[in-house]
Amino acid sequence: MSDTPQLTLDATMGKNHQIPVAKHFDFNHLPIAVYTCDNLGYITSFNKAAEVLWGRKPEIGKDLWCGSWKIFHINGEPMDLDTCPMAITLREGRAVEGKEILIERPDHTRVKVRPYPVPVFDEDGLLTGAINTLVDITNLTEGEEKRAILAAIVDTSDDTIVSKTLQGIITSWNKAAEKMFGYTESEALGKHISLIIPHDRLDEEKHIISEISKGNIVDHFQTIRVAKDGRMIPISVSVSPIIDNHGNIIGASKIARDVSEQHLANEAARRYTERLEIINAITETISEELDLNKILQKVTDVTTRLTGAQFGAFFYNNVDANGESFMLYTLSGAPKEAFEKFDMPRNTEVFKTTFKGEGVVRVADITKDDRYGRSTPHHGMPYGHLPVVSYLAVPVASRSGSVIGGLFFGHPEPDKFTAEHEDIVVSIAGQAAIGIDNAILYEEVKTLNEKKDEFIGLASHELKTPLTSISGYLQIISRLNANDNTQKFVDKTIQQVKKLTALVSDLLDVSKIEAGKLQLDKEKFDIRAAVNNVIELIHFSNINYQISLDTDIESLIMNGDADRIEQVLINLLNNAIKYSPGSNKVELSLSSTDSEVKIGVKDYGIGIAHDKLTKIFTRFYRVEGTNHTISGLGIGLYLSDEIITRHHGKLWVESELGKGSTFWLTLPLFNDTLLPEIN
Ligand code: ADP
Repeated sequence: MSDTPQLTLDATMGKNHQIPVAKHFDFNHLPIAVYTCDNLGYITSFNKAAEVLWGRKPEIGKDLWCGSWKIFHINGEPMDLDTCPMAITLREGRAVEGKEILIERPDHTRVKVRPYPVPVFDEDGLLTGAINTLVDITNLTEGEEKRAILAAIVDTSDDTIVSKTLQGIITSWNKAAEKMFGYTESEALGKHISLIIPHDRLDEEKHIISEISKGNIVDHFQTIRVAKDGRMIPISVSVSPIIDNHGNIIGASKIARDVSEQHLANEAARRYTERLEIINAITETISEELDLNKILQKVTDVTTRLTGAQFGAFFYNNVDANGESFMLYTLSGAPKEAFEKFDMPRNTEVFKTTFKGEGVVRVADITKDDRYGRSTPHHGMPYGHLPVVSYLAVPVASRSGSVIGGLFFGHPEPDKFTAEHEDIVVSIAGQAAIGIDNAILYEEVKTLNEKKDEFIGLASHELKTPLTSISGYLQIISRLNANDNTQKFVDKTIQQVKKLTALVSDLLDVSKIEAGKLQLDKEKFDIRAAVNNVIELIHFSNINYQISLDTDIESLIMNGDADRIEQVLINLLNNAIKYSPGSNKVELSLSSTDSEVKIGVKDYGIGIAHDKLTKIFTRFYRVEGTNHTISGLGIGLYLSDEIITRHHGKLWVESELGKGSTFWLTLPLFNDTLLPEIN
């Protein structure tokens, strides 16, 4: 039993001591402050909690109404003891509720208290006293206040603040959340958070909750949420665990910030870079590409992609070799058949502007445009035509200003093309024009070149027939009509005719290569013997030259076209002599491995500049300047290279200007196949 008297409601203190309630009611250990007074207001009993609350022990039967040291109104003004709630209850015989008072303890600490005094009556209805419960609301109120302040902060915050349980049920939803997502507080509370999560991002919630359950904070998580009206909102969200008084994680609070603007800026920067890259890439393609159709297709594809058009087309106004105009076109985003059955677009009012080069046409809804055809039978777009509502057309003009054609874009929905799209297409159209001009020039050059090849072929063929007859007749004259005076001239004529025949047959070979008709015949032959033949032949007509051969090989059988390989060797030896005016020596070498044979032709002539070493193998190429006095057509090395390459071999040169050159060739010994002609 404690020091505090046990409340026995039949206490003998006070004038009236018949309190008709349960006797021996022990409230000493109740956690809440309780005390009683008799009908005159003297304290008759109090429990331990009351003593703690007051910070003192009142004197039973002496202290009136209240055991407090001092009492105050809630606003801090002193309260007269006889106006305290207990005094009112006893005076008026009624319970007093809802009043709050401040109690000051002897140690000057104060507590805020809500008293609940209730009167006690006997069987006859006479007031015998009162029992008062004092609820300490000091902390409670502070908590409430804090909560109220916090609620105000949360409510007025510009950031969206939402809390939810660990099961994802929304427990709070501030004004900013209402604004951002479009759901009111009452619409959101109690709903699952998936209310604002796009379907394809539902897994994110699992991740967030698992982090929160571990007590982790999810910071600046960039994601997308969906508003009530379906708008996708890019947000940066920070989620923190909510912890109860016992330290348990009971939910999560999240602060979200709309990063749409940042997102838009990033997106714009990304798009800008991407476009620059695409424009760069296309500029490169256009400047490198000489195939007109490929350029048009590339330009159409890229611009269609960049404008977001459903389909794009490039109509190109071309004039063919006979001067007849015809329309070429490339399409992107639609099959060619989609256009094939319709008239060419230049016939209509809408397209005229573009083909006349009068400027860009960008219309949000072409079907409402004055230029849109209203006449029968099509009334604008013919039936079955791709549905075009948004329309963009950009003329493509060449450098000279003449309109080459136009880029056309369509989309079935209105208002799809922006000024930015227009700018992009205009700049690409500018680039395209350059490429198209180049491609046209290239086409022209190619045609002329083909005509020239054709002519060379024809001319050399025509020349060869009489040349063959002339050399035949000369042989006969040489044999039949030989006498000392004329023989010399006949021999010289035969020599010149041979040279002429060789030139003509080289020319013929070139045109055969171009036409893919240079025939090679595979046979087994002795390469050493072939080299000997060639040396003998060249020596015969250049007797002042020393032609040496450095080799260990006596005989080496290989596969290939012996005549053609001899032709290459003759050509190399002739060049070695021809381009060595100050020397009289040519050195040949012949060596082999298990699989290939290697031949070198070394001269001590004029040599070749480093930057010309590969060019000399191209058709009609002759090094300028150094050899202007030496005659030639610039086809010998071209032919030689073709012959060696077709044998799967290699031909190259090492040279030093002014010192001489060595031409090398390697050939596989066993050639199962010779490369076919390239057509
Ligand atoms: P051509 O000798 O009829 O001009 P080729 O195709 O045989 O044609 O040779 C191409 C060019 O390579 C020659 O015009 C010459 O400038 C250069 N060339 C070829 N062989 C030699 C060489 N041995 N020394 C120096 N220059 C050479």
